[in-house]
Amino acid sequence: WVDHVAVVSSNGKLRARRPTAAAAAGAVLGEPVAASDDQGGLVHPSEEFAAQALVSSTQQYQEMYRRSIDDPAGFWSEIAETFYWKQKWNPDEVCAENLDVTKGPIKIEWFKGGKTNICYNAVDRNVEAGDGEKIAMYWEGNEIGQDGKLTYSQLLDKVCQLANYLKSVGVGKGDAVVIYLPMLMELPIAMLACARIGAVHSVVFAGFSADALAQRIIDCKPKVVITCNAVKRGKKLIPLKDIVDVSLADGAKNGVDVGICLTYENQSAMTKEDTKWTSGKDVWWQDVVPNFSTKCDVEWVDAEDPLFLLYTSGSTGKPKGVLHTTGGYMVYSATTFKHAFDYKPSDIYWCTADCGWITGHSYVTYGPLLNGATVLVYEGAPNYPDPGRCWDVVDKYGVTIFYTAPTLIRALMRDGTEYVTRYSRKSLRVLGSVGEPINPTAWRWFYDVIGDSRCPISDTWWQTETGGFMITPLPGAWPLKPGSATFPFFGVQPVIVDEKGNEMEEECSGYLCIKKSWPGAFRTLYGDKDRYETTYFKPFAGYYFSGDGCSRDKDGYHFLTGRVDDVINVSGHRIGTAEVESALVSHPKCAEAAVVGIDHEVKGQGIYAFVTLVDGVPYSDELRKSLVMTVRSQIGAFAAPDKIHWAPGLPKTRSGKIMRRILRKIAGRQLDELGDTSTLADPGVVDQLIALGDS
Ligand code: ATP
Ligand code: MG
Repeated sequence: WVDHVAVVSSNGKLRARRPTAAAAAGAVLGEPVAASDDQGGLVHPSEEFAAQALVSSTQQYQEMYRRSIDDPAGFWSEIAETFYWKQKWNPDEVCAENLDVTKGPIKIEWFKGGKTNICYNAVDRNVEAGDGEKIAMYWEGNEIGQDGKLTYSQLLDKVCQLANYLKSVGVGKGDAVVIYLPMLMELPIAMLACARIGAVHSVVFAGFSADALAQRIIDCKPKVVITCNAVKRGKKLIPLKDIVDVSLADGAKNGVDVGICLTYENQSAMTKEDTKWTSGKDVWWQDVVPNFSTKCDVEWVDAEDPLFLLYTSGSTGKPKGVLHTTGGYMVYSATTFKHAFDYKPSDIYWCTADCGWITGHSYVTYGPLLNGATVLVYEGAPNYPDPGRCWDVVDKYGVTIFYTAPTLIRALMRDGTEYVTRYSRKSLRVLGSVGEPINPTAWRWFYDVIGDSRCPISDTWWQTETGGFMITPLPGAWPLKPGSATFPFFGVQPVIVDEKGNEMEEECSGYLCIKKSWPGAFRTLYGDKDRYETTYFKPFAGYYFSGDGCSRDKDGYHFLTGRVDDVINVSGHRIGTAEVESALVSHPKCAEAAVVGIDHEVKGQGIYAFVTLVDGVPYSDELRKSLVMTVRSQIGAFAAPDKIHWAPGLPKTRSGKIMRRILRKIAGRQLDELGDTSTLADPGVVDQLIALGDS
C-alpha cells in the first residue's frame, strides 16, 4: 500500500493520508492551481451500477490494490494462470526488474521462462471454450448500410489463412511486418496472424504520409508490408497503395528492400483495375490468402519475445519505436480492459481509436478479444455523414461500452446536442476517454448528454509505453471527479515528484513518475537503448518518468495537467496547459482551447491562448475580455491569458492531439522554425492561424 493513495475515512469519503513535510515540497513547483472547473464535486455511480460491478466498493479495490503492491508476483501469477501457457513461467522469476540507471542497465521482465501465444489466447481459446458462434467483431463501413461481422470461429479461420500465407512467403518468428491498413476487420486479423507465427507487427496509422511510413519501414525493415488499395474516410478517397509505393521506393533507396506488398482490395473505395500495380512485388490478398488452410499451428513464444513495435504519435518530436513483449502485455491489456470498463460477456464494445495507435492495439484488438468480447470496428469518420453518426451506430449495434477521445467529444459538443438526442443511446452503460486531459466541461457534456447522466466515465491515463491503463476509474468502485483519471490500477505505483526527484505526498503538483514495473511496460525503444534510458529513466533515478505533469487533490484524486514540456512558468507559477484550457472551455462560447507560453519581459513567460468558438459565434473584443475574465475567476489573475488568438481550427496530430510545439512557434512568430508539419491531420490550419495572427 503506497503512502499517498487515498484511504476511506469513516464518512466514506476518499482522503489522502499522512500529511508530511514532504507535501510542502510541492511549493517548489509553484502553487498547485485549481484542477477542476467543476463546482459539482463528486459524481457517484448509481447503486444499481455499483451492485453489479466487478469491483463494487473502494474497500474491495483497496484490498486488491494492497495485495497487488505487497505481493505483485502472487497477484499477477493468479491472473496469468487464467490464460493458456504451453509452458509455465519460472515461479521465482515472475518479475525481474531494475528501474534504477545508477545500479546498471534498465531491465524489465515478466513471466520469464513461460511460453504462450497471444493469438491463441485471444481467438482459439474462446472457440475452444464454446464461444465459436459468438460475434468477435462487427464491422461498420464508412457509408451507412455497409457492414459485416465475424464469429470467433470465422475469425480463427481468417487469421490462420493469413498466417499460413505469411509463413509461405518466408515470414517467421522475429520477422517484422508493417501493416498500413484502415479500420477494416483485416487490420486486427493481420495483427493476430503475425502474433500467431511469432512475427513482430508494426502497425502504421493509415493516415500517415509516405515520408512517415518510409521512416518507419527503414527503421524496422519488414519482410512484408500489408495494405489495401484505397479507403474512403468521409467523402475523401485516400489511395493507400500509391502512398505505400512511394514509401517502398524511398526504403529501397535507403537499402531496405521489402519483397512483398500484400494488398487487400477494398472494393467499396477502389477497384483492382484502377490500382497501380508492380507485378512480382504486389500481391492481391483476395487472390492468395483464401487458398490457404484454415488450420495453422501456433508458434509458442517466450513471454519476453517481442510482440509488436509501435511508433508513438510524435506529438513531441521524432517518433519512438516502442517495443512490447508477449506475456506481460497479454495479461495486462486483458486485465485493464476488464476492470476499467467493468466488462461483462454480454457487452458490445466500441472504441473509436484506430489500430494505428496503442489504444487500437490494447483496446480494439488484444484486450477485448482476450476477454472474449464482441468488438465493433468502424471504418469511417465519426462525424460522417453528420455529427449524429456515432449514436446511430450505438443504436444499430446496441453498443454498451463507448470509448473515445476528448477531441471528438469537444467537436461533437460544438456541433450541438440535437445530433445526440435524436438517438436513443439507451444501450450505453460505460463511457471512456483517452488521449488528452478531458476538460471538466467536456466531461460533463459527455456524462450528461451522451450518457444521460447514468453511465460512469473511465478517464484512462496511460501511454504507448505503458501498454495499458495506469490511472483509471474502476466504474462502480468509487465516485468520479470530472477531469480526473482518479486512482492507480492494480500493481501501479504512481508518484508525483518535485524537480529534484523527491516524492511528494498529499495535495501536490509535479512530475508524474511510476515506481516499480508493471506487466504491460514496454521493454525498450527499438534500436535505441540509450534514448530509452535517457528519456524515461535518467530524469529521476529509480523511476519511470512519464513526461506528464500531474496534481493530486486533497482526496487523493489524480489530475493530469499536460506534458511537462508544455508547462508555462508565469512569474514563478508553474501552470499546466490543461488547467487554463479547461477554464477557457468552460466558457459557454468556447469550444476548444490550446494555450502555450510566450516570452514576457516581466513575467518570464506569458500565456498565449488559441480559442475555437462554438459554431456560429463571432469573435469580438467583448468576448475576448469575457474569456480572460473566466480564467481570472477560475484560476487566478496570474493565469490570465496575455493574448487570445481566434482559431477556426487547431493543428492536431492524426490521433487528434493538439500540437502545442507548432502553436508555440506561431505565438512567438518564429514562422521559419515550424518544423515538420507533415504529421498534422490538416496542415492547412497552420497557414490560417498565421494569417489570423497578423490580422
Ligand atoms: P509522443 O510521445 O511521440 O510525443 P504521445 O505522447 O502523444 O506522442 P501516446 O503514447 O499516444 O503518444 O499518448 C500518451 C500521452 O497522451 C500521455 O503521456 C498524456 O500526455 C496523454 N494522455 C493520454 N491519456 C490521457 C488522459 N486520460 N488524461 C490526460 N492525458 C492523457
Ligand atoms: Mg508520449
